[in-house]
Amino acid sequence: MPDHYQLRCRECGKYWGNTPKSFCEECFSPLEVAFDYDALKNVASKDALSGRSFNMWRYAEFLPLPKGFMAPNAVGGTPLVPARHLAKKLGVQNLYVKNDAVCFPSLSFKDRVVATALAAARRFEFKTVGCSSTGNLANAVAAQSAQQGFDACVFIPADLEPAKILNTAVYGARIVRINGNYDHVNRLCAQIADRFQWGLVNVNLRPYYAEGSKTHGFEIAEQLGWELPDNVVVPMAGGSLITKIAKAFRELVLLGWVKEKPVKFFGAQATGCSPISDGVKRNLARFEPQKPQTIARSLAIGNPADGPYAMKEMRNSGGWADDVSDPEIVDAIQLLAETEGIFGETAAGVTVGVTQKLIQAGRIGASETTVVCVTGNGLKTTDAIVSEYPLTETIAPRLEAFEAYLDAQLGAAAEAAKA
Ligand SMILES: *Cc1c(COP(=O)(O)O)cnc(C)c1O
Ligand SMILES: [Zn+2]
Repeated sequence: MPDHYQLRCRECGKYWGNTPKSFCEECFSPLEVAFDYDALKNVASKDALSGRSFNMWRYAEFLPLPKGFMAPNAVGGTPLVPARHLAKKLGVQNLYVKNDAVCFPSLSFKDRVVATALAAARRFEFKTVGCSSTGNLANAVAAQSAQQGFDACVFIPADLEPAKILNTAVYGARIVRINGNYDHVNRLCAQIADRFQWGLVNVNLRPYYAEGSKTHGFEIAEQLGWELPDNVVVPMAGGSLITKIAKAFRELVLLGWVKEKPVKFFGAQATGCSPISDGVKRNLARFEPQKPQTIARSLAIGNPADGPYAMKEMRNSGGWADDVSDPEIVDAIQLLAETEGIFGETAAGVTVGVTQKLIQAGRIGASETTVVCVTGNGLKTTDAIVSEYPLTETIAPRLEAFEAYLDAQLGAAAEAAKA
């Protein structure tokens, strides 16, 4: 049996088979993996899931995997947390956090996209893989390459967060720091993929990479008891994840695994890099590229490849987009941590902050079911909030010292209450 999927041009519709390529050679539009849904109906069965572990590979038939693929790891399968305390703070009733801050192995949703990209890299017999990255992608490429025996070479803007660089270096990946922003890095990578026989996961393997994001959506639907939510709030960098969650929901409806239902897609960005949310809010036909300037480094893509498709998804679903400032991002990181015990990275601050704004604006209803996508772990962006938590004074290891300390604290609190 041939593959039940192949590359197709998103604009002219021409099919290109399965090959490491991301642009149509006829019209230069992006390629996407298109599935033969009649064939998919024959190979995929909901009943088969009960015998499978809860990780992204339980949806294998929906992914562009080579024949005889054996899962090398247990990526995904993250919790959907009923966020009752956060919901109360925000004034809504049915709020969930999809927590990819604990995604295996590198603590962001990028593990999902790298997992499908490396399956394609193996199929196309690449020995060296890599990526252009705002941080999390490099972490995921480095970790999974180490496990699977690929040589890894990643390209990053020179001034990324130290923790993101360290979390790549520890796996033995080669790191090339570029003097420039992500958009410069990405342009260079397109030329590198052309010149060398390398599998760059978000460049020449991009269509295979992008399908991995669907599993974030499949898991949400399954964890809601095979139902779709009313609203999803998704952080946007290149704009791919939001379109793939939508694709996942459409596929589940098409196969009859969930009941059809209108789902509103809401996109979240940092104000300092908000080309997509700006395009939605100003109702532009095309977004205007920006020069990024924000602490939300993982989302700092000024010229997002999937921006036009993300805008379309939000508009067609009746959703919306918004953005928050750097201080609002810090506040929202703290709010999520203090209400739900989840330490998200700056992108999570963006998503929670934007969710709050959307609720206040009445775009998200109080009784609707809303899923907030937390996509990365706060331990990787501690520099964004470290100044909020100066170290406290030390005390001697004696009971009297602690009693004196408590008296002083209570005194200070009483003074503060009086003032
Ligand atoms: C890359 C990234 C995103 C956005 O992904 P796109 O598919 O490029 O829009 C969101 N959150 C985090 C933490 C990321 O690293
Ligand atoms: Zn084309």
